[in-house]
Amino acid sequence: ALADRLESAWKSLRGQDKISETNIQDALREVRRALLEADVNLQVVKTFIEEVRQRALGAEVVAGVRPDQQFIKIVYDELVAVMGESNIPLAQASQAPTVILMAGLQGAGKTTATAKLALHLRKENRTTLLVATDIYRPAAIDQLLTLGKQINVPVFELGTEVNPVEIARQGIAKGRELGVDTVIVDTAGRLQIDADMMAELGDIKKAVTPDEVLLVVDAMTGQEAANLTQAFHEQIGITGAILTKMDGDTRGGAALSVRQISGQPIKFIGVGEKVEALQPFYPDRLASRILGMGDVLTLVEKAQEEVDLADAENMTRKILEAQFDFNDFLKQTRLLKNMGSLGGIMKLIPGMGKISNEQLEQGESQLKRAESMINSMTREERQNPQLLASSPSRKKRVAQGSGHQLEDVAKLVSDFQRMRSMMQQMGQGGMPGMPGLGGL
Ligand code: GDP
Ligand code: MG
Repeated sequence: ALADRLESAWKSLRGQDKISETNIQDALREVRRALLEADVNLQVVKTFIEEVRQRALGAEVVAGVRPDQQFIKIVYDELVAVMGESNIPLAQASQAPTVILMAGLQGAGKTTATAKLALHLRKENRTTLLVATDIYRPAAIDQLLTLGKQINVPVFELGTEVNPVEIARQGIAKGRELGVDTVIVDTAGRLQIDADMMAELGDIKKAVTPDEVLLVVDAMTGQEAANLTQAFHEQIGITGAILTKMDGDTRGGAALSVRQISGQPIKFIGVGEKVEALQPFYPDRLASRILGMGDVLTLVEKAQEEVDLADAENMTRKILEAQFDFNDFLKQTRLLKNMGSLGGIMKLIPGMGKISNEQLEQGESQLKRAESMINSMTREERQNPQLLASSPSRKKRVAQGSGHQLEDVAKLVSDFQRMRSMMQQMGQGGMPGMPGLGGL
């Protein structure tokens, strides 16, 4: 697995204090190999690796986190980002019926996916009509009729003698007449990309003006998925994709190719022959599968924990050494803000539930005032609050700069110093209830 191979590549990263152009080479080579083994298209891999290289070199070094762990997190995050948002719902036209056009090679799983989608839509209380336009193989129409019967969804067909474009057109009219919410048009594929197939698909698209054109891609297609996507996207224009046969032993690298080449989202994955075997697409799950291991997630989590821990440790050390300054204070308040309002957090802390809304609002506005005063301090003043404590003219300048009274600034500085020495004492006493402080 990639994890093991990275392990050896890491040896060059380990002991180094940061990720650099030279020590990253081996690690990047291993990622490249893992992606190619997962059947991601070569060109797509190249683009991806370049992106990761840039990210990794630009990454800020987190003290206390091993660069190899930081690197794997970058790779994973980038992979998830490239594969796009998760679980994107099917389009829904403002005026029924919504039209979904299925596209893809023969055997990709279009007809099966057509029925799977109908079943999926039923769960959202959407009714469907399926339209059979594959007139080239008589069995294809029967297949859709059988599936329709199985899930109790109507199927529109005109046999094998009518032109597919005409069938599609009449199918939409039928859908409107039946008052269904969605019409899914199943089409004929070919074994390879073929001008006749594309022309026919293009004509059907013109005739039915679909809200969705879904490219159905067999995940086992491997490297070819890239060419396939390019051809369909250029010649027809797709709005999304379904990756089928993900129940096989493929790593699913085709997803990365489809997404990167078309820019369109993977909406579902097919995970079996049965009509129920359809799942929404989750990029994070696929990212670990592509990288070839469940352990990647564990690694990523571990890396994240170490990042957090390193931050907390730095903070604790500063507190103990009475070096906690206004910069750290700002960082902490911003962290709180990122986590949601102060009030929301306080309510989560046991024993804090009785704090009134008024008190909370007061706390929040105090933090805001403190922040604006700190913003008016010079770098030296932030690092060394004593400078302010001993200089009325500095305090006056900060007061004017932030639009507060001199007394406000004086109070902030003295409160801060009192808090700092209190924190220091608590730290040395090893308060068991304080995360990051206990056991030190
Ligand atoms: P079409 O030619 O694109 O319409 O493909 P079909 O829907 O007829 O499917 C071709 C074959 O693939 C059939 O045997 C399906 O049962 C099978 N199939 C389709 N989707 C999946 C899937 O997600 N997993 C598995 N294992 N088989 C699938
Ligand atoms: Mg078919």
